[in-house]
Amino acid sequence: MIYFDHNATTPLHPAARAAWLEVQDRFPANPSSPHRLASRAEHALEEARAQLAQILGCEPSCVVLTSGATESANLVLHHFSRVLEKDRNILVSTIEHPAILSPAAHYFGSQLRLAPTTSGGMIDVDWFEAAFQDQRPALVALMAANNETGVLQPWRRILETCQNVGVPLIVDATQWVGKLPSGDLGKADYVIGSAHKFGGPKGVGFLKCPSAVSSLQPLLLGGPQENGRRGGTENVAGVVSMVAALRQHTSTLADPNVLTEKIATRSKFCTELVQALPGATILGGSNPVLWNTVSVLMPEVPCQARWVVKLDRAGFAVSTGSACSSGQEKPSSVLTAMGLGAQSSRILRFSSGWETPASDWDLLLAALKQVYQDLSQS
Ligand code: PLP
Repeated sequence: MIYFDHNATTPLHPAARAAWLEVQDRFPANPSSPHRLASRAEHALEEARAQLAQILGCEPSCVVLTSGATESANLVLHHFSRVLEKDRNILVSTIEHPAILSPAAHYFGSQLRLAPTTSGGMIDVDWFEAAFQDQRPALVALMAANNETGVLQPWRRILETCQNVGVPLIVDATQWVGKLPSGDLGKADYVIGSAHKFGGPKGVGFLKCPSAVSSLQPLLLGGPQENGRRGGTENVAGVVSMVAALRQHTSTLADPNVLTEKIATRSKFCTELVQALPGATILGGSNPVLWNTVSVLMPEVPCQARWVVKLDRAGFAVSTGSACSSGQEKPSSVLTAMGLGAQSSRILRFSSGWETPASDWDLLLAALKQVYQDLSQS
């Protein structure tokens, strides 16, 4: 099976697997216990935190280790629900993942303002900036790269706007980290990431906060871990394994030619796909997009639902949108925000990994042509 669903989750990177096994063997103790074995586990954890902080461009004390992006998003939004004045609005883009949208609606209700997106899947910067003039929000949340379309969001520009007037910004960088250089992310007040999106294990992630302040209101109570910001015994093996995977990608990204090649492979696939399948449209338009993601509005054929099934039978694992909305009748909020709600059943998402060779994209294209022919004739 050729795997084109890396935005849903990635296979464990060999370096992550080796690190996980090593920690389980060498540092099995609870880092909070009072013996030498515990100190070794604590040392391994703190070394991994420091390496992660270095990659993100922040201080180790800014990193809160969590179970993944969903927990990190809930933690930071819970925090703000406790500390913000009750009548202040928060501004969140409509194309955020449900991990942000749901807790934002839960904690802020009518104080939540949704910032629209353009038909190309990028947040509407003009609207955003006008909204700042109109009524300054108390908090902003904007993702770095969209999980469904891959469109890169102007988070650096929005960060500048926010910083100029002292408004905190949450950047959900779950799809950015491990795919693009991440050294600037630490400039944002709050950054969210999840290990399993970049070759780390499932169930580990992080929230980057402004400083060591233990004033971050914890969501999980029950222990003093993470400077009182997140209770519960730390997942030492998971954290070390996450950082091992991220370090591999960070060193790969140090060679600019690697990204150039990946971008060229994606462009070639898109050009050939549009030529081969009349009516196919690549989502995202001319916006900058993740090198690994292609979201396509497929041409109309008698039975749309069978694209994924036919591709699966041909040996390709692809998605119809975000994994969280797959299998649901309802179009995803991202596609609805882009004005594609009615056509959402015709959308396929292909997302590759670092290990995907260019030849797999060629094989996928050949399979798509074949499935198109089959479906057009059925
Ligand atoms: N944010 C984005 C942009 C995502 O793509 C995802 C998962 O698809 C999440 C948050 C949630 O991640 P996790 O399942 O690791 O909690």
